[in-house]
Amino acid sequence: MGRSFRVVILGGGTAAGYAALEFVKNDINPGELCIISEESVAPYERPALSKGFLLPEGSARLPSFHTCVGSGQERQLPKWYKDHGIELILDTRVVAADVKNRTLRTASQETIAYKILIIATGARVLRLEEFGIKGSLAPNICYLRSIQDAEKLVQATAACKSVGGKAVVIGGGYIGMECAAALVSNRIPVTMVFPESHCMARLFTPEIAAFYEDYYQKRGVTFNKGTVLSSFERNKEGKVEAVVLKDGSRLSADLVVVGVGIRPNVSLFEGQLTLEKGGIKVNGKMQTSNSSVYAVGDVAAFPLKMYGDMRKLEHVDHARKSAAHAVQAVLHPEKTADYDYMPYFYSRVFTLSWQFFGDNVGACILFGVQRTGKFGAYWVNKGRLVGTFLEGGSKDEYAALARVARDRPEVADIDLLATQGLEFAVNH
Ligand code: FAD
Ligand code: NDP
Repeated sequence: MGRSFRVVILGGGTAAGYAALEFVKNDINPGELCIISEESVAPYERPALSKGFLLPEGSARLPSFHTCVGSGQERQLPKWYKDHGIELILDTRVVAADVKNRTLRTASQETIAYKILIIATGARVLRLEEFGIKGSLAPNICYLRSIQDAEKLVQATAACKSVGGKAVVIGGGYIGMECAAALVSNRIPVTMVFPESHCMARLFTPEIAAFYEDYYQKRGVTFNKGTVLSSFERNKEGKVEAVVLKDGSRLSADLVVVGVGIRPNVSLFEGQLTLEKGGIKVNGKMQTSNSSVYAVGDVAAFPLKMYGDMRKLEHVDHARKSAAHAVQAVLHPEKTADYDYMPYFYSRVFTLSWQFFGDNVGACILFGVQRTGKFGAYWVNKGRLVGTFLEGGSKDEYAALARVARDRPEVADIDLLATQGLEFAVNH
């Protein structure tokens, strides 16, 4: 038998770092908590990998973005964990879990026992092989999830730049948009390829997307929409030289970045815990179908109280808040109310910055003037304002949008709402 802890956090990503801080704020005793992570570094703010990390100048590097700097709190270096008596077990993959006997087994065959387990295993990238496309291990094909992926992308970007090369970005979601912006900032021309008719199709309407596509095009991004990749052309060393698309076209490429979605890391718990929406099902205390096991962040499917349904959200604000909530539920079960979260997503590219709050269902009402770089949208569903979006806002304006999305006021006159625009939220 190996080590034994009161609480084990499985996974050492963003949620794990925030859970550790919450335990420390609540005076957990030295030796009671352990984090097991297959990554080789202490928990960090993953969003930095597609933003500051990829910049050509003044790029962000660890240790600058260890948690919890993203929310203006402590920067938890390995020494911080040591000083607080938290065992940080890095470079260690857990290969089996036995929920009944409350044990985990690592790749090095150590058995680690827990009283309480917090699953924070996040998600893995979808690989092109899962779409039937071979060869995505080539040295100039990059995915982006971990710091190792980001380091490979930085090297591949430098190599591409040194030959005056071009990049192809596969996927028009978050990774695709943020990486394309970083690549053109590195003066590499980019073609984006994705199946939908506009970028960020799950969140943006065609009108919102048009603003960003226009902005990107002016900075060296070409859009190849409504098609997907069918194969790669490679040279003798296995490097990709071109991508061939389903519509028959061929794009020469010195670098390929792939961002075609993610899947939560649930496999250790299949058949042991209840799953929903591809994630691990939890209740309002982030507790799974086994009362000694909690799940947080990208891997958790949780009840979204505001809307009365189950959701899985793959964004950092939820990772941070669900982690802190689970810790409160572990330490103070009687005093902890159900998790009452409002969805919040954001992105920052070039000098642009947008934030979204709530739900993007129902009719979308645009306001502001796109040409000025400051515009937004409200979503109205069943007579209530349910979602808000703003590009180029101030701190106070975003706070007003968050407030109004949380309150969900009735909207009697949609035309009036469009005319009032941002004022509606600010005066609410
Ligand atoms: P993760 O941070 O992914 O951590 C999971 C951890 O578990 C990892 O350390 C992993 O190695 C470990 N692990 C998994 N399985 C095992 C195992 N079997 N054994 C040991 N360890 C294991 N969200 C936003 O809202 N805004 C953004 O701007 C934004 N930018 C992003 C940029 C990038 C490049 C990426 C990849 C994501 C971004 N996100 C953003 C999403 C956000 O980072 C995630 O929602 C958040 O990291 C989820 O935290 P998590 O702890 O649940 O998972
Ligand atoms: P997304 O789900 O955002 O986007 C995936 C994109 O790839 C979609 O446009 C999708 O289309 C497209 N796609 C799917 N299959 C193919 C294919 N075969 N060929 C071409 N395109 C394809 O995932 P990402 O990979 O961009 O991001 C991964 C995760 O990282 C997300 O969960 C996100 O939350 C997180 N992240 C968040 C950021 C933020 O919040 N600012 C920034 C960076 C990452 P379709 O919709 O039709 O499947």
